[in-house]
Amino acid sequence: MTTVELTLLPLGPGKDLTSERGVECPGDLPPASDPDLVERARAAKAKLGAKVFVLGHHYQRDEVIQFADVTGDSFKLARDAAARPDAEYIVFCGVHFMAESADILTSPSQKVILPDLAAGCSMADMARIAQVEDAWDAMTDAGIADQVVPITYMNSAADIKAFCGKHGGAVCTSSNAQVALEWGFEQKPDAKIFFLPDQHLGRNTAVLELGLSLDECVVWNPFKPNGGLTVEQLRAAKVILWKGHCSVHGRFTPEVVDQIRATVPDVKILVHPECQHEVVLKADLVGSTEFIIKTIEAAPAGSAWAIGTELNLVKRLAAAHPDKQILFLDKTVCYCSTMNRIDLPHLVWALESLVEGNLVNVIEVDPDTEHWAKIALQRMLDLPGRSHRD
Ligand code: SF4
Repeated sequence: MTTVELTLLPLGPGKDLTSERGVECPGDLPPASDPDLVERARAAKAKLGAKVFVLGHHYQRDEVIQFADVTGDSFKLARDAAARPDAEYIVFCGVHFMAESADILTSPSQKVILPDLAAGCSMADMARIAQVEDAWDAMTDAGIADQVVPITYMNSAADIKAFCGKHGGAVCTSSNAQVALEWGFEQKPDAKIFFLPDQHLGRNTAVLELGLSLDECVVWNPFKPNGGLTVEQLRAAKVILWKGHCSVHGRFTPEVVDQIRATVPDVKILVHPECQHEVVLKADLVGSTEFIIKTIEAAPAGSAWAIGTELNLVKRLAAAHPDKQILFLDKTVCYCSTMNRIDLPHLVWALESLVEGNLVNVIEVDPDTEHWAKIALQRMLDLPGRSHRD
């Protein structure tokens, strides 16, 4: 068994095209101090007209989101892109795995552009394909691979989605993880789920939605021999969780939940299922980004909410709902630093390059990976019903 060593690359210059992080941006960026950046972005977008479609993830900066034709979570944005076949260029203001998904779901003639190639996702980077194949080999050696259905969260690289497609598994989102796990357990006799790459979403779904016990979930650590598990533990497990997490949502703590409850009367705690299990257990409501937005929109005036998700989104929710008390569930700032790599200078550079006929930072998934990843995505689209959290 080979073990892949991962160094923690700092953000910024560097080159690792197989990684979600640390890839150098080749262009001449306008300085951030240029007072004409907003006007330049507007002008370039106007010149491109219907040829360009700008997607903005909910966690994106305000300076960028103002130019988005549509906003949403990663899966909604990929579907929005696929619904616009007339748009030659999809400019994805999100992170690398999202642009890959958009490339998979759009037609070959559409080009998906990520304004900064260093906009990756630390969670997606925690599961590399060689590591996942090693884990699969260990499950084969333990005699359980035939029972295992791999399910990967949307927040994973295209080759991990393809792995799931090849091995009879599927993709899921934070909205439909419950249905995806239920589907997985129905696929084989005595099935086990191999859940990638977010241990927290996998655990929260298995325990709180499907009623499994914590003991029925084990964690595969790719940096330990045999994942840090005995063959007996693997054989006894119902869910094998990959040891990955979101560096943003993993920061929220049960202690801060207690402090906010002690200081804000009648506050409701609303968190994303990527948060740690101990935080989710203390929350009033848990759900996807779209669920969080809908919950706040539907909340009565005067209600108080402490929200555990990315700070750009929480700030926009607070600004849009001045009649409600919206608090952030952490004492310090908690932006998705990789998503925030995409700033106005990068967006202006990408749009102006397109006006000049230069396609920069095109994200292209190879045909074999695309084929299998699409199968895993299609299995998700075919899932019966949807979770109550949609
Ligand atoms: S918020 Fe977390 S999961 Fe989402 S892109 Fe950022 S690091 Fe990845």
